[in-house]
Amino acid sequence: MIMGLLSCDENHHFVVFSIQNDVDLGKQVKQEIASDPAHYKILPQSSYPQVYNYLYGMRDAILNSGEISYKDEFAWELYVLEGDSTLNAFATPGGYIYIYTGLIKYLDHADDLAGVLGHEMAHADQRHSIRNLQKSYGVEALLAIALGQNPGALEQIAGQIAGTLAGLKFSREFETDADSHSVAYLSHTKYACNGAALFFIKLNEQGDSAQPPEFLSTHPNPENRIENINKEAADLKCSTALSGDAGYDQIKSSLPN
Ligand SMILES: [Zn+2]
Repeated sequence: MIMGLLSCDENHHFVVFSIQNDVDLGKQVKQEIASDPAHYKILPQSSYPQVYNYLYGMRDAILNSGEISYKDEFAWELYVLEGDSTLNAFATPGGYIYIYTGLIKYLDHADDLAGVLGHEMAHADQRHSIRNLQKSYGVEALLAIALGQNPGALEQIAGQIAGTLAGLKFSREFETDADSHSVAYLSHTKYACNGAALFFIKLNEQGDSAQPPEFLSTHPNPENRIENINKEAADLKCSTALSGDAGYDQIKSSLPN
């Protein structure tokens, strides 16, 4: 019964892929990234345990917010990518999150990074990539994969995703959605719940638009996003006070120069 396979996600968006398809696709993309060191230079966890422990602590705070739909289903693995001039982070389907050293070094507070991490986790949890794929490949192609009728296609799509992740662009709707979710996640943590806005504020102050990162796609513009994030924070009445987490400076200084 084909209809039995069709599902709506928690927000009642029609998505052909099952959660298991997200998980499988994410694993494939992760493997593609791991096998492409020319483009993606992963900082080894064994050499930087303190950096990863710190980031995983931040991830756990967000996972435990009670706001993540696929907390147990998705992988929620973190990877730091070497690239000091890259102000970027991205997420694959199924919850693999990649953060460039350039972004960690650029941000001033743990709260700023928590805001970005929340944003990226929201893209995965809200299944934004999958919904994009469905738009670009069409329901039929994805349904064939979901039904196991096209065994090679998942790998092929994973390869294409891995190749385009760093330049990934989401729609205005998805960016705003990810920003809003970031606020909701952080509202249950020690971090300033508008942490995601702090990055945009700094970027605006410095007039730094050299390399627009994933979470700073051309629209909506940074001013609108700051406004949206702060409005969300006001609606939720969550704390926007900085956490004063001193560990962040140590993490920055322990990254490779
Ligand atoms: Zn984004």
